[in-house]
Amino acid sequence: MSTLQASYCDQGQALLDQALPEAELARLIAAHLAACAECRQAEAVFQTLAMALRAASAPALPAAVEARLLSRLCSAD
Ligand SMILES: [Zn+2]
Repeated sequence: MSTLQASYCDQGQALLDQALPEAELARLIAAHLAACAECRQAEAVFQTLAMALRAASAPALPAAVEARLLSRLCSAD
Protein backbone atom coordinates (compact mmCIF):
# COMPACT_ATOMS: atom_id res chain seq x y z
CA MET A 1 0.00 0.00 0.00
CA SER A 2 1.10 3.51 -0.69
CA THR A 3 1.82 5.79 2.22
CA LEU A 4 -0.78 8.42 2.91
CA GLN A 5 0.82 11.83 2.76
CA ALA A 6 -1.53 14.10 4.60
CA SER A 7 -1.16 15.89 7.88
CA TYR A 8 -2.39 19.03 9.52
CA CYS A 9 0.08 21.65 10.63
CA ASP A 10 0.80 21.90 14.36
CA GLN A 11 -1.89 24.52 14.80
CA GLY A 12 -4.49 22.48 12.95
CA GLN A 13 -3.56 19.33 14.85
CA ALA A 14 -3.81 21.22 18.13
CA LEU A 15 -7.37 22.20 17.24
CA LEU A 16 -8.26 18.59 16.52
CA ASP A 17 -6.66 17.40 19.75
CA GLN A 18 -8.86 19.66 21.86
CA ALA A 19 -12.02 18.19 23.32
CA LEU A 20 -14.27 20.79 21.74
CA PRO A 21 -17.96 20.50 20.99
CA GLU A 22 -18.44 19.43 17.37
CA ALA A 23 -19.99 22.72 16.29
CA GLU A 24 -17.17 24.73 17.85
CA LEU A 25 -14.53 22.44 16.36
CA ALA A 26 -16.11 22.69 12.92
CA ARG A 27 -16.15 26.48 13.16
CA LEU A 28 -12.52 26.74 14.26
CA ILE A 29 -11.35 24.24 11.66
CA ALA A 30 -13.21 26.05 8.89
CA ALA A 31 -11.57 29.32 9.92
CA HIS A 32 -8.14 27.70 10.07
CA LEU A 33 -8.54 25.97 6.70
CA ALA A 34 -9.33 29.30 5.10
CA ALA A 35 -5.90 30.54 6.14
CA CYS A 36 -3.75 27.39 5.92
CA ALA A 37 -2.91 25.68 2.63
CA GLU A 38 -1.22 22.75 4.38
CA CYS A 39 -4.37 21.89 6.28
CA ARG A 40 -6.56 22.44 3.23
CA GLN A 41 -4.54 19.79 1.42
CA ALA A 42 -4.78 17.39 4.35
CA GLU A 43 -8.50 18.06 4.62
CA ALA A 44 -8.96 17.23 0.94
CA VAL A 45 -7.27 13.86 1.44
CA PHE A 46 -9.28 13.12 4.59
CA GLN A 47 -12.51 14.14 2.85
CA THR A 48 -11.77 11.60 0.15
CA LEU A 49 -11.22 8.91 2.77
CA ALA A 50 -14.33 10.01 4.64
CA MET A 51 -16.41 9.63 1.51
CA ALA A 52 -15.05 6.13 1.07
CA LEU A 53 -15.95 5.34 4.67
CA ARG A 54 -19.40 6.83 4.25
CA ALA A 55 -19.98 4.65 1.22
CA ALA A 56 -19.06 1.60 3.26
CA SER A 57 -20.97 2.40 6.45
CA ALA A 58 -24.19 4.19 7.24
CA PRO A 59 -23.68 6.78 9.99
CA ALA A 60 -22.54 10.20 8.80
CA LEU A 61 -20.14 12.10 11.01
CA PRO A 62 -19.16 15.74 10.71
CA ALA A 63 -16.14 16.02 8.43
CA ALA A 64 -13.95 17.45 11.17
CA VAL A 65 -14.73 14.52 13.45
CA GLU A 66 -14.00 12.05 10.68
CA ALA A 67 -10.77 13.87 9.95
CA ARG A 68 -9.79 13.61 13.61
CA LEU A 69 -10.46 9.88 13.62
CA LEU A 70 -8.64 9.32 10.36
CA SER A 71 -5.75 11.44 11.57
CA ARG A 72 -5.41 9.17 14.59
CA LEU A 73 -5.54 6.08 12.39
CA CYS A 74 -2.95 7.42 9.99
CA SER A 75 -0.55 8.61 12.69
CA ALA A 76 -0.84 5.28 14.50
CA ASP A 77 0.29 3.52 11.35
ZN1 LIG B 1 -2.86 24.44 9.34
